[in-house]
Amino acid sequence: MAVELAFHNEIENIMYASHGNPIKDCIQCGTCAGSCPAIEFMDHSPRELIGLIRADMKEDVLESNTYWTCASCYQCTVRCPAGIDIAGMMYALKRYTMWKGQYKEGLLGPEFSKAFVKMIVNSGRSFEPILAATYLPKYSAADILQEGLIASGLLLKGKMPLLPRKVKRLKKVQKMVRRVIPIGETE
Ligand code: SF4
Ligand code: SF4
Repeated sequence: MAVELAFHNEIENIMYASHGNPIKDCIQCGTCAGSCPAIEFMDHSPRELIGLIRADMKEDVLESNTYWTCASCYQCTVRCPAGIDIAGMMYALKRYTMWKGQYKEGLLGPEFSKAFVKMIVNSGRSFEPILAATYLPKYSAADILQEGLIASGLLLKGKMPLLPRKVKRLKKVQKMVRRVIPIGETE
């Protein structure tokens, strides 16, 4: 009979790709929180988030915007006295919530991630105008106008194609991506 893993074990398993120590080594010193440039926008500091994971408070973690707000600057990771890859943990949490389809409503990050993966699967390349469509609704009219002007300039100078181009051997790229990402709604 399969044993159901505790939430903190699930996250630690996903962190296999990071090179730091396990989050159980956290001494709750707060260096990560004190180093984080995005802290004022986060529901929980990195230190608090680790505390929630270790306490298996899954719902609180899934409802947090912290890992979607993380700027991936790695300040916390390089300063942590316990050698924990906190930035890597933020990526692990993003992956976990995307796989489970459980994340805080109204966040831009999950929509942006879905649009990005869908685009890569369908064409093998990133194409800015499609990505822009996912975050423009959050912008003001002035910001949208500004973005439009920048995009027109890039188009006119030939720095951005009008339509997305596909990579060669796209089927192989799609097969590779599907091996690592459980995608079910990209076609
Ligand atoms: S800096 Fe490291 S040890 Fe200190 S609270 Fe953050 S994760 Fe824990
Ligand atoms: S990697 Fe993320 S959590 Fe760590 S300091 Fe930078 S913004 Fe903050």
